[in-house]
Amino acid sequence: MCHSNCNHKWGGCAVSMIAQVLLVAGGLNWGLVGVGMLLNAESWNVVNIALGSMPTLEAVVYLLVGVAAVMSIFGCKCNKCMAECANCVAGGKTGSNM
Ligand SMILES: [Zn+2]
Repeated sequence: MCHSNCNHKWGGCAVSMIAQVLLVAGGLNWGLVGVGMLLNAESWNVVNIALGSMPTLEAVVYLLVGVAAVMSIFGCKCNKCMAECANCVAGGKTGSNM
């Protein structure tokens, strides 16, 4: 995110798209954990269900979601995303140019 009015903090590079997917997946997983707890159901932690037998891999997924969250705070600073933000500052253009 290049400035406060910038509304495309994800510039569209591969890394930022992966981070966005991870953030959504992590958010949905946490939502399911909450629903499962409220319903007194078994664990609805999809990541744990899928990867619980591989604790290291499970931890890596959580770590990646955390990294994605940090990226969403600071925005991606790669050349592609910065170039898009340069357009945004110059032209006051909104949205992405996909
Ligand atoms: Zn980027």
